[in-house]
Amino acid sequence: MVDVKKVNWVTTLYLIFSPFVAAASLYYWLKSGSFNWATIVLALVLLTFIQVSITAGYHRLFSHRTYNAKWPVRLFFLVFGGAAFEGAALSWSLDHRIHHNHVDDNGKDPYSIGKGFFWAHMGWLLFKHNSELTQKEKERGGDLMNDPLVVWQYNNWLPVGFFAGFILPALIALLWGDFFGGLFIAGVVRSVINHHSTFLINSLSHCVGKQTYSDTHSARDNLFTAILTFGEGYHNYHHEFPSDYRNGVRFFDWDPSKWVIKGLSLVGMTSELKKIPDEIILRKKTQMKEKRMKAKLSASKLKFFGSTQEQILEGLKEKYENAFKTLANLRAELKKTQKASDSDFKYDKTFISLETNILQDRINDAHREFKEYVGEWNAMRRRVLAYAKAV
Ligand SMILES: [Zn+2]
Ligand SMILES: [Zn+2]
Repeated sequence: MVDVKKVNWVTTLYLIFSPFVAAASLYYWLKSGSFNWATIVLALVLLTFIQVSITAGYHRLFSHRTYNAKWPVRLFFLVFGGAAFEGAALSWSLDHRIHHNHVDDNGKDPYSIGKGFFWAHMGWLLFKHNSELTQKEKERGGDLMNDPLVVWQYNNWLPVGFFAGFILPALIALLWGDFFGGLFIAGVVRSVINHHSTFLINSLSHCVGKQTYSDTHSARDNLFTAILTFGEGYHNYHHEFPSDYRNGVRFFDWDPSKWVIKGLSLVGMTSELKKIPDEIILRKKTQMKEKRMKAKLSASKLKFFGSTQEQILEGLKEKYENAFKTLANLRAELKKTQKASDSDFKYDKTFISLETNILQDRINDAHREFKEYVGEWNAMRRRVLAYAKAV
């Protein structure tokens, strides 16, 4: 039974009626001969601004602190993020941090996929969910409450969002005489597209796609949602490494949000972009491949366990694990040396820079070695799997 008192009426009515208003206004706009390319461009620009404000702003900056941004960038994200009509950045981020800490826990994860596709997609937004935060969660939001811009947006997001998402495009489109198109096409139609593409991250990205790095949670990597959401579809990676400013980690992965963040860093507007070291990502991916391989082999007729092939694979694993450890030690040493060069004057700068260069070379060698052993392990794994398939 639905508890009427718990229904969030404003959001519910908007989410139910906006697709109908969007369809009717689009029909009227086209039928009345008001079609205008300028309005379409305006809608696309606004769609991009709002989408990026949610992905690079609400998500990767405010929820996960994967980089730092100067105040004009934060203000932009807060104004256009408000126009997404998904609440204030503060509440959005706190909900999202709970989602990460309790993913798939039906009692705690606000948009747990375990409660069904519709619930994860938008059902959870229809109700006033338990907004009482534990002390720990309040502490986790402390960094946000210290940002006056975030607090200002928390108190004003509705009028600010309404202005940026509806009034502003209507006023701009008035310049070419299309107030209706500005309000309804760049406003309402755009808002429905914005909503449902973002919602897909909580629904589709938690049930369709590949579990590249871990199968201990429901998050999945999915190129389709990545395209719809400016790169947020690499959700399995994101749940494994939420502190990385990238979601699509390979350079060719479709992740415009990471390009925006990187681009802004080149002009000094963002800084301290956090990246997970390459070997940690590759090791995690390889561990997942091993898990999958073992499941396949135990289901096949092949007597693999205890075989020579298993010993070879174990030997290669030991080699790449050792290279991984060496790499971690070298990175720690490099950090220590760099710190000494920053703080301790008694070290000779030339000596420090020589030491740094040597360490960097050793890191490169260890990295190469690690990748080689992983490559050999992978080749062996493929051979074993092909053989298992044949018997
Ligand atoms: Zn998720
Ligand atoms: Zn996240």
